[in-house]
Amino acid sequence: MSETLTKELNKQLNREFYSAYLYFAMSTYFTEISLSGFAKYMKRQAKEELKHAQKIHNYLIDRGGKIEYERIEAPDASWINTLDVFEYAYNHEKYMTESIYNIYEKAKEEKDYALEVFLDSFVEEQSEEEAKFSKMIDRIKIANACECGIHTLDLEL
Ligand code: MG
Repeated sequence: MSETLTKELNKQLNREFYSAYLYFAMSTYFTEISLSGFAKYMKRQAKEELKHAQKIHNYLIDRGGKIEYERIEAPDASWINTLDVFEYAYNHEKYMTESIYNIYEKAKEEKDYALEVFLDSFVEEQSEEEAKFSKMIDRIKIANACECGIHTLDLEL
């Protein structure tokens, strides 16, 4: 694999670790305000991101690329409520989609068909992630209209 693409995948590896870090922080936020269902939900998201990181890690190794570990940013955990957390998560996933698309574009330019195929599952995954958070935002808005709604939703998760 080219040096450029190796570098890009390493950056994506870091972003996936950051995503896990972010969702663990969101899980902590919910634990601290006693919404254990949401806390569990975010922990599942975090573990999912670790799987993405692992997948990229393994792929880099398979393609003979060198793994470069970089510093993981601390998430800005200054959320004010449940809706705020999910809007943040949704925007983050949109950013992740953009970054996957950028790597896809570079793989296309370099005619690295193997990398394109590898990234397909990430492209698919991103659509699912965005849809999931977008739907949750709609449901939280509905739940917010009723004071008890958030707790009902929490129990369901
Ligand atoms: Mg991911």
